[in-house]
Amino acid sequence: MALSEFELIDRFFKRQSVSHRATALGIGDDCALLGIGDGVELAVTMDTLVEGVHFLADVDPEALGHKSLAVNLSDLAAMGALPKWVSLALTLPEPDEVWLGGFTSGFFELAKVYSVELIGGDTTQGPLTITLQVMGPIGEGLAIRRSGAQPDDLIYLTGWLGDAGLGLKIAQGSLGHSNAQACERFYRPVPRVEAGLICAGSVNACIDVSDGLAADLGHILTNSGVGATIEWECLPLSPSVLNFIDNTGDWEFPLYAGDDYELCFTVPANEQLELESRLAALDYPCTRIGVIEQDPGLRISKDSTLINVPTTGFQHFANVTI
Ligand code: ADP
Ligand code: MG
Repeated sequence: MALSEFELIDRFFKRQSVSHRATALGIGDDCALLGIGDGVELAVTMDTLVEGVHFLADVDPEALGHKSLAVNLSDLAAMGALPKWVSLALTLPEPDEVWLGGFTSGFFELAKVYSVELIGGDTTQGPLTITLQVMGPIGEGLAIRRSGAQPDDLIYLTGWLGDAGLGLKIAQGSLGHSNAQACERFYRPVPRVEAGLICAGSVNACIDVSDGLAADLGHILTNSGVGATIEWECLPLSPSVLNFIDNTGDWEFPLYAGDDYELCFTVPANEQLELESRLAALDYPCTRIGVIEQDPGLRISKDSTLINVPTTGFQHFANVTI
């Protein structure tokens, strides 16, 4: 069987003997953390979007410009860092001015919201591929890692789950009807930067949900050496997602659907009230969905029954593409 994405990274890239004292965190989290002096660390992340894998050829370039930056800002948010700088490596089949106008307008509009500055990049000819590297500072020791979850931590999720997954089904033509909200959530995810900044220094673990809740919470569980139970009835599901589940019976859909770019974080009980009151100022909800436990593995409590669920999700080389 072919190597999966994570096996490949572990076997071929996570084995270098060089390491610098300033590297506070290397491969394996949403960002790397580099000490840059004066009690500050720089969080650094990179994400690539490939035509035919992450988006279809006919996607609106303005939405693509937005999404390319949004998915990278989401990784910075997952560490609790403040986004400041971005580099852009763009591979284009042709220098299409209309496409470039749309792409850069979506890109710069979102960059302006967070005062993110484009500081460099690379431009090449070839199949459409967009790679961004985003960087931003965070106080030393405040970044939120995947490895810090403790038994009895409460698990929270920003926003809503599954709408982007419905948007993907619409893009693939497999839903049978359209839904403006689901398409918006799929094409124009909103990075939860403010929630990440509030969580920094107050929560034990955090990840952004790009490959599905089960898979990404699974990374927290594995890296922290713990397990969890999620209350299915507590999941923040929109009427559209509930309707989809009613029609298909697929209650696992919100656990495995990807592309939501929400933050999932684990909160020690003594921080709960203070944190909840600060999160209440956001214009999206933060919902308590479960609890971290000593017992490894992921369990879903549904209709008063406990169900063991696998922590699998989208992986390159292991999944079909759109
Ligand atoms: P995310 O979904 O949060 O963007 P990924 O699942 O893409 O994270 O990557 C997991 C970890 O592996 C990250 O820390 C990332 O920086 C690292 N990584 C991915 N590909 C490589 C590579 N080719 N070489 C080194 N590190 C890599
Ligand atoms: Mg991530």
